[in-house]
Amino acid sequence: MLIVQKFGGSSVANAERIRNVAGIIAESFLYGNDVVVVLSAQGDTTDDLLEKAAEINPDPSKRELDMLLATGEQQSIALMAMCLEGMGLPVVSLTGWQVGIRTDAHYGIARIRRVDTERLRRELDKKRIVLVAGFQGVNKFDDYTTLGRGGSDTTAVALAAALHADRCQIFTDVEGVYTADPRKVPGARKLEEITYDEMLELASMGAQVLMNRSVQLAKRYGVELEVLSSLVRAPGTKVKEVTRNMEEMKITGIAKDDKVARVTVRKVADRPGSAFRILNAVSKAGINVDMIIQAASQGEANDISFVVAQADAETARKAVADRQAAIGFESVAVDTAIAKVSVVGAGMMSSVGIASLVFEALNDEHINIQMINASEVKLSCVIDAASADRAVAAIHRKFFES
Ligand code: ADP
Ligand code: ASP
Ligand code: MG
Repeated sequence: MLIVQKFGGSSVANAERIRNVAGIIAESFLYGNDVVVVLSAQGDTTDDLLEKAAEINPDPSKRELDMLLATGEQQSIALMAMCLEGMGLPVVSLTGWQVGIRTDAHYGIARIRRVDTERLRRELDKKRIVLVAGFQGVNKFDDYTTLGRGGSDTTAVALAAALHADRCQIFTDVEGVYTADPRKVPGARKLEEITYDEMLELASMGAQVLMNRSVQLAKRYGVELEVLSSLVRAPGTKVKEVTRNMEEMKITGIAKDDKVARVTVRKVADRPGSAFRILNAVSKAGINVDMIIQAASQGEANDISFVVAQADAETARKAVADRQAAIGFESVAVDTAIAKVSVVGAGMMSSVGIASLVFEALNDEHINIQMINASEVKLSCVIDAASADRAVAAIHRKFFES
């Protein structure tokens, strides 16, 4: 069997954890499998590198930032290779460049275009364990790019797809995908299985356990994923096309995203085209917008608010502010003290009761809802950031703990 195994940052955080993971890899290899391993940077390395960069230059070029960030994963593969060598096992570590993981040119959030499998196959043919640096690729200028936070998940899925692997295992620091973040909600339940679509929603709505792009890729190429713990031996969660309990489960899980911000444009001229001009300015800046609301205040001017990723908020504000004369409004401001709490499930639409249960849970906790957005598979509410964990716990109790 050809197995792709990915280990996240906490799984390789220190020497002891590296030895633990080496044991898992060795076991799979000695069982007679071809093993390709994708590693993340150790512990908080990526955050530390970002801080280091900020100390030198608060606004570095994205190219140089990627050059720096890519080093984190390279440390992990070299250390893991040394550990496996020490155990007498044949191993080789490869960067994204050495493998030939080609991406588009977008530094910091590159998409994988193509994966060369030649070098990987050659190493596997030599009966070596192959360790690949996650999160990185190379663009058409032969520069390093990174795939966005959590991107090692995407590397693993891309390799599994390119190699037609028999299994793709995502090892992490929890035992699988849960109905809510098990670190925040003690009553959260581990899911035996989850569909790609539901996992994609959960991941997109803030459940960090898998990067949303990795799930998209897995769905597209039919790569079945298994999310499991590197520390506890227990069956994990299967992410796949069809699950057994699709019909009965209305709600799959609850996610929180506190890396969002609201941009509010006040007293927008009440005339055709105002909303268009505002959102056009934002979209021209390359920023995705979510949950737009227009609140009619008394008189003739409206307030228009929308949600963006926190990292994009200042750019969005500026894009709108720069067009103040053309758009016609009084002021534009950013609020980062908000969070988006979402309930995800394939059976959402067929049951009106779900929305009312969510609102009831928030009402019980006296949490004010600032914005609402519903689709066939999810219901999201924007609330103040300080209440977010309490909101998730309260909603979880309503759906899963009573
Ligand atoms: P890794 O370093 O292995 O990539 P991450 O920190 O990216 O790990 O993702 C694992 C974390 O995701 C868990 O520690 C958990 O706190 C968080 N998480 C959030 N939502 C969920 C969920 N629904 N199920 C499982 N874990 C979740
Ligand atoms: N090291 C990168 C990050 O922290 C990629 C990953 O862990 O998947 O986001
Ligand atoms: Mg991760």
